[in-house]
Amino acid sequence: MKTSVIGYPRIGKNRELKFASESFFKNEITEAALLDVAAELRKDSLLKQKEAGISFIPSNDFSFYDNVLDAAVLFNIVPDRYKTLGLSELETYFAMARGYQGEKGNVKALAMKKWFNTNYHYIVPEIDDNTEIKLNGNKPVEAYKEAKALGVETKVALVGPFTFLKLAKYTGDKTAKDFVSSLVTGYIELIDKLAAEGAEWVQIDEPSLVKDVDSEDKALFREIYQSILKNKKSVKILIQTYFGDIRDIYSEVTSLDFDGIGLDFIEGRKTLGLVKTNGFPADKILFAGLVNGKNIWRNNYAKTIDALKELKAVAANVVLGTSCSLLHVPYTLDSESKLSDDYLKHFAFAEEKLQELRELSELTDIADNGNVAAQATFTDNQQLFQGRVDSVDEAVKKRVAGIKDSDYTRLPDFYEREKIQKEKLNLPLFPTTTIGSFPQTQDVRQNRQKFRKGLISVEEYMEFNKNKIAECIKLQEEIGLDVIVHGEYERNDMVEYFGENLSGYIFTEKAWVQSYGTRCVKPPIIWGDVSRKKPITVEWSKYAKSCTDKPVKGMLTGPVTILNWSFPREDISIKESTLQIALAIRDEVLDLEANGIDIIQIDEAALREKLPLRKSDWYSEYLDWAIPAFRLVHSGVKPETQIHTHMCYSEFTDIIPAIDDMDADVITFEASRSDLQILDSLKENNFKTEVGPGVYDIHSPRVPSVDEIVKALSDMRSRIEDRKLWVNPDCGLKTRGETETKASLINLVKAAEQIRKSGAES
Ligand code: GLN
Ligand code: ZN
Repeated sequence: MKTSVIGYPRIGKNRELKFASESFFKNEITEAALLDVAAELRKDSLLKQKEAGISFIPSNDFSFYDNVLDAAVLFNIVPDRYKTLGLSELETYFAMARGYQGEKGNVKALAMKKWFNTNYHYIVPEIDDNTEIKLNGNKPVEAYKEAKALGVETKVALVGPFTFLKLAKYTGDKTAKDFVSSLVTGYIELIDKLAAEGAEWVQIDEPSLVKDVDSEDKALFREIYQSILKNKKSVKILIQTYFGDIRDIYSEVTSLDFDGIGLDFIEGRKTLGLVKTNGFPADKILFAGLVNGKNIWRNNYAKTIDALKELKAVAANVVLGTSCSLLHVPYTLDSESKLSDDYLKHFAFAEEKLQELRELSELTDIADNGNVAAQATFTDNQQLFQGRVDSVDEAVKKRVAGIKDSDYTRLPDFYEREKIQKEKLNLPLFPTTTIGSFPQTQDVRQNRQKFRKGLISVEEYMEFNKNKIAECIKLQEEIGLDVIVHGEYERNDMVEYFGENLSGYIFTEKAWVQSYGTRCVKPPIIWGDVSRKKPITVEWSKYAKSCTDKPVKGMLTGPVTILNWSFPREDISIKESTLQIALAIRDEVLDLEANGIDIIQIDEAALREKLPLRKSDWYSEYLDWAIPAFRLVHSGVKPETQIHTHMCYSEFTDIIPAIDDMDADVITFEASRSDLQILDSLKENNFKTEVGPGVYDIHSPRVPSVDEIVKALSDMRSRIEDRKLWVNPDCGLKTRGETETKASLINLVKAAEQIRKSGAES
């Protein structure tokens, strides 16, 4: 049986691309040096896959920042404000991704959004009425040729035109429909060029097909592919879907003249049923995504072989593949020296997944003519699924079973609490605050490293961080912020940090996954039932409080985010895991309160991320337990304790009632990079929770001016009552430099002061 990989990680086993790019941004290395690092990484990945015997290896899956941005640039979708900077091609590309502030100008980055239900972010292409879409680049062709020169025949991966048009933002009067024909012409020209180079296969990624597809979408889809397929010459076309099933459009997809159709059998709950009920065309190849591209647990061979057997009964040609790009899993278990094999044998990262594909392909061939039970690869695999005894904690199970309905409700109600809190906290109108973390400078990371390596004592480690906290608080007081944070210096990552302090978690050393651009995360692994061993953040928050008379905000990560940014278990439901975590964080909330912390922020940065891609599943499969899990964390506090939450990205326009139902007292979220679109919806929905829509974008090093912030605040005030409006950046500051952070926060406070004054005048 042949095998296929949809995409491979690209940041580098040791994050080489990240470090090279960051050096390039700081002008420490040349463009040529960065290109070299990238070429080396691509070569490694191609050869790895070739060695593993993968039949369909992707090219053009590499990107310096993001593939959607690559596609935008490829088709000439570069807004004028970036073109006129007069930068080099690569620098213009980075200006779109990260913003630019320098001698050639001052522009913000393009919007960035989460890629479907993952923690990867794509750059939103921006199309205006004057955008002239046309093929204006060669990246996919170069990628194909480069692989070929290395002796690797590849299928060229392209972001699909349907998905691209669905994800783009239209700033003028024109909409997707107005650009179909020019975009399709571009794709056709590109495919022709690939054909001329001898490419055999093109993989066109259309994950948007797993969402709700209405009749208008279907028409758009048909229009696109009828033209593309009509012009098809020698190249075979694989339409690749992932992150779910394509129930709304299965018959259209299978009736068109594709040569291959890629379906996801892991997240696509209905995929197997669709294929069995509707059949699969005999003249096409079914690329069956059965090896999970997102999670890191070993594949259960018996189940996969059974599924393949069922598929082969329906489809004449089946290729075994990954369920989505391997971009979402780390590189290799080889880099993990600390975890024993008792753990590691349960996992497969990208490289190990290649082995799984190979073994499964061999086993399926054997299964065709006999029995796999005698094969060691099979029996070894089956042993992994006998149950992991050390993952069970009866006390935790009992506590979850004992949760009462009333535990999900905080009393008294929001309005009552709002009154009590206003009186107690006595904050000015438009209170200023930050989202929690301050720049994690070199010294902060070094201190943590030294401690981890045993080079300094726990006392030395603590003292360093306490000094940092004291400095940070002094800085915030100088700047004039109203609600103070301790700066989160003790945290490497907002999820890993809590994971490390909870039992049931295990950790990797190098299991990095790209989040956006050069930013990577290292999700911890939920191995067993989760509980809190002892207070986690209390000492830091108590110390911070002792440094100032201003209110200090305690800082926690919420259960849904902890779950969503971990690799979850596959042997119990994610709902159950989340409730276990919620109870652990609830204990921490109560301990903070008992230690005099009267404002507690429980971050749910990733709550939106796992919202099912189909509307009909939103509540029943997710919000119905995720929102109560959040309430369970804070329902035990006193009315005067103010609960904040924070969400990254403001794409929750459609679920505003659910967000309000988290019943926090204040919510802060990203808004600056998506033009404050959400404010109207907040107003329409009578959003009760007080809000701090971020007034500037922290994902970019740019310093916002006072005027810019005042303008953002005026926009906000037209839709949010003054007494409910908070002033803050749109996310934590840990990835930023100290200088730009200070300058930005000074402007933020000045802007708040300015509107307080003008408010008093009006
Ligand atoms: N409190 C966290 C911080 O400030 C929140 C980060 C996030 O939302 N991603 O870093
Ligand atoms: Zn955030």
